[in-house]
Amino acid sequence: MLDRSFTLGRYAGIPVKVHWTFGLLFLFIIYIGVESHKTTLEQIFFILTFLTLFFCVVLHEYGHALTARLFNVHTRDIIISPIGGVARLERLPVKPKEELLVAIAGPMVNVVIAILCFIGIASFAGMEHFIFNEQSDQIDSFPKFVVAVFFINVVLFFFNLIPAFPMDGGRILRALLSMKLGKTKSTKIASIIGKMFAVGFMFYGLYISHYVLVVIGGFIFFMANTENKQVILEDRLHSTKIDDIKRSEYTTLYLHDKMEKAVNLSLQQQENNFLVADLEGKLIGILHNLFIRDAIQDKRTHEPVSTFTSTKFHVFTPDMSIYEARHKMNELGLSIVGVGNSEEELVGVIDHDSIVHFMRMTSR
Ligand SMILES: [Zn+2]
Repeated sequence: MLDRSFTLGRYAGIPVKVHWTFGLLFLFIIYIGVESHKTTLEQIFFILTFLTLFFCVVLHEYGHALTARLFNVHTRDIIISPIGGVARLERLPVKPKEELLVAIAGPMVNVVIAILCFIGIASFAGMEHFIFNEQSDQIDSFPKFVVAVFFINVVLFFFNLIPAFPMDGGRILRALLSMKLGKTKSTKIASIIGKMFAVGFMFYGLYISHYVLVVIGGFIFFMANTENKQVILEDRLHSTKIDDIKRSEYTTLYLHDKMEKAVNLSLQQQENNFLVADLEGKLIGILHNLFIRDAIQDKRTHEPVSTFTSTKFHVFTPDMSIYEARHKMNELGLSIVGVGNSEEELVGVIDHDSIVHFMRMTSR
C-alpha cells in the first residue's frame, strides 16, 4: 500500500508514475485554490500553476533519465511524490564524469525553462510583470502565470543544487570529488557535508519556527546516511572477487538421490542450494532452496532430486566481481553457480547465501 503508485503514461520508453500520496496533495491543492481565491480566473490559474510545477519536475527528471541513456544506463521509471520526483536509474553511472553530467542535466532543464519564460515575458509582455506588489500578488493573467513558472524553475534549480544527498547538488559534489579522491572517500565527504547542511536546516527551522524546514532537514540527514552506506556497499561488491567468498566445501547431489538428503544437509550444514550431477557425475543442474522447502511442505521428501532439479548450470570464473555475479545470477534465475575456470575444474561454489552474508557483513 505504501509504495502504491499509478502510471500516467510512458514517454521515450520510460513510465511516469505518480505516488498515491501525490493524489492527496493534488486534492488538497484544489481545495486551497478554491478556498483562497476569489475569482474563477484566479482559481483556474492557481491549479494550472500547480500542474505546470508538476510538469517541470517531470521534465527535470527526464533531463537525468535521457542523459543517463547516453551512457547506456536505463531508467526503470520516474516517480513523482509530494516530496519531489525521482528518476530511478537501473544502476549508478560508473565514471565520475558521467555521474556529473547525469546529475547536472536535471537542474539545467529548469534553467532552460526559466530562460524561455524570461525571454517570452521580456519580448511579448514587458518587464513590469516581474514586479509583484500588494495589489497584484495573484496570478490572474497569462503573463503573470509565465512569471510564476519562471520563479518556480529558479527555485527548483537552487533547491536541487543544495550540496546534500539526495539532492542533485550532493551528487554533483561527489562526482567532482571523485575525480580526485575515488568514490568511497568522496561519498563519505559529500555525505558529511550533506549532514552538516541538514543539521543547519533543522536549527534554522527551529530558530525561525518553520517546522517544515526541520522535517526537510531530518529527511536530508537520513538520505545522506543511506546513500553513503549504499555506495560503500556497491564499491565493495565491485572490488571483491567471487574467489574470496566461494565455498570450497560443498556437496554435489545426484539425480537419483532422495530429497531427504538435501533436507538433512540443509538442516545440518547450512548448505541450502546444491549442484546436481547425473549418473556419470556430470554436472547438469541445480537444486534451489525454495524447492527444498516445497518438498518439505508438500511431504515429498521421498521423491528423487531429479523431480526438483532445474536444468540450468553455470560456471563463473574466480576473478568475476561479486557485483557482476549477483547481477548475472538474478538475470538467469540461478541460486547457485560453480566457481572455476572450466566445468571440469571447479574450485568451489557461490550461492545466494554467500552473497547475502557478504553484504550483511559489509553493511555493518
Ligand atoms: Zn534532479
